[in-house]
Amino acid sequence: MSNDARTEELQPEVNITLQGIAGSPGIAIGKAYLLEHEDIDVVEKRVLDSKKIPSEVKRFKGAVKKAEKQLQGLIDQVPEDLKDHIYILDAHMMLLKDRMVYDGTIKHIQQEEVNAEWALKMTVDEVKSMFKKMPDPYFRERAADVSHCSHLILEHLLGSKPANISGIDKRVIIVAHDLSPAETTQMQLEKVRGFLTDLGGQTSHTGIIARSLEIPAVLGLGNATQLIKTDDFIIVDGSVGVVILNPDEETLTRYQERKDLFEEYQAMITRSSHLPAKTTDGFRLSVMGNIGQLEEVVSVIDHGGDGIGLYRSEFLYLNRKTLPTEQELFDNYRDVAEIMAPRTVTIRTLDIGGDKFANGLELAEEMNPALGLRAIRFSLQSPEVFNHQLRAILRAAHFGNVRIMFPMISEVDEIIRAKQLLNEAAESLVKAKMPCRADIEVGAMIEVPSAVMMADVLAREVDFFSIGTNDLIQYSLAIDRGNKHVAHLYQPLHPAVLRMIRRVVEVAKEAGIEVTMCGEMAGDPMNLPVLLGMGLDAISMNPISIPAVKKMVRVLSLKESKKFMDEAMKQPTAADVVALVRDTYGSAFSKGALFQSVQG
Ligand code: PEP
Ligand code: MG
Repeated sequence: MSNDARTEELQPEVNITLQGIAGSPGIAIGKAYLLEHEDIDVVEKRVLDSKKIPSEVKRFKGAVKKAEKQLQGLIDQVPEDLKDHIYILDAHMMLLKDRMVYDGTIKHIQQEEVNAEWALKMTVDEVKSMFKKMPDPYFRERAADVSHCSHLILEHLLGSKPANISGIDKRVIIVAHDLSPAETTQMQLEKVRGFLTDLGGQTSHTGIIARSLEIPAVLGLGNATQLIKTDDFIIVDGSVGVVILNPDEETLTRYQERKDLFEEYQAMITRSSHLPAKTTDGFRLSVMGNIGQLEEVVSVIDHGGDGIGLYRSEFLYLNRKTLPTEQELFDNYRDVAEIMAPRTVTIRTLDIGGDKFANGLELAEEMNPALGLRAIRFSLQSPEVFNHQLRAILRAAHFGNVRIMFPMISEVDEIIRAKQLLNEAAESLVKAKMPCRADIEVGAMIEVPSAVMMADVLAREVDFFSIGTNDLIQYSLAIDRGNKHVAHLYQPLHPAVLRMIRRVVEVAKEAGIEVTMCGEMAGDPMNLPVLLGMGLDAISMNPISIPAVKKMVRVLSLKESKKFMDEAMKQPTAADVVALVRDTYGSAFSKGALFQSVQG
């Protein structure tokens, strides 16, 4: 063997590429810091003497108390830039004492006469498998929250040390199996260039936090913690979900250029995010934000949103044992309305049931939750729960520009009944002389194919339509929106989806009502020429997508988009539509779309 060959053998392999989920856009280049936990996943089962059971229960309760104290300490010291996310730690605080985990563990200790660690593990496995069966990815990923909380308790039961995070003293890319919100808040975030995790997806908290702090992240890598060691040199491309381990010179230069370009582009779009989304021929598209929590309102304003096109109100009902009171709902909605005023706030009534459940509600287990008792179906069957929400919305409308919309409408009777209940709620408020606004605008979400077909009938009953493409695509293409095995078939630009959208827009125009889109499809600039060409009045999206979308609107012309849409409608497949977008708008997308999710 020659010397050269032997030297080659000793060289580490270069450009090892790992593919994960794009968690937060941007590029980070630097050294890895592997976050290692003491291995507490393997717990031992011990069968105890019956006499020892009460003290074992006490030991468990003591560990929960210590975990609560630890978490409270973290909450009290949350750094300023993470204050917006404190609700995540608050939710963990509640999870520690959650009936399912807390009572479940005590029951296992008592009934099976086993040690607390084992009882906790059994309970957590049960609760996690329940979460994991939920079709909605947001709720599936809440299984991770249960893990994080049980880890905290386990650490105290076992007396083991948590991973050392606060001591990181150089700028690094954090590599972890999973990152709990408690861990994230302990980091000095100015030291963090990027995040990589084995677990997690787009809607995991690591993703949510990384996006709001604008730190690049790749999640769901599977085995990054096995392949990457502390001080390994890596590139993280959070825009496309790629990690490169040991990059060679050429790759490094390429990514450095890409990083500069990205940062230049981000700075540019953020600078211009407050300019109106006006096409080159003068059409003003309203670009709004979707929120799930009061805390996100600021992000909509900061990113230049024209209003809130979707307030997913169900989050106020989750992570708690009792239902929110009318007053609690009102306080929350009023805050949103006041902060956004005079801009529009569209509150969607509860989209709960089926895949999304709340502890305070008794919901039957369903074989097919996506087709079950969810959203408006649930609200109409629970008039008291619905009434509190309707009253809270009408009262909040007194303080800003609030409108209401009903989710999952599949027939006109649902709208008629919901409006009846809304009127009754308004009458009772007026009678009680409570400040409210009785004549707020009412909208229907169009997310079920039957609503598309009956749009002309529905249009007589409402002031606006909002197309919920996340569900409309799922129901029309028969693709479970949370099933990764069919994710490649989930195509927003599928001709069937485009025809449905076109029908809804045409019907709305004929009826003289506003038509908006609030599904994820609206947040991808790639879809914009078609959506603009269709004639949508407004679109609403994740707040961080707003600047790029607004910028893209400003380089498009409404007239050209209409022509383009006619061409797109002639295409037989989604791939043909995507190809047409690329052929026609390649240059317009060259910078903007470079960093957005790329379809096809
Ligand atoms: C939708 O279905 O497109 C939508 C916006 O609602 P959600 O994602 O909350 O179901
Ligand atoms: Mg929906």
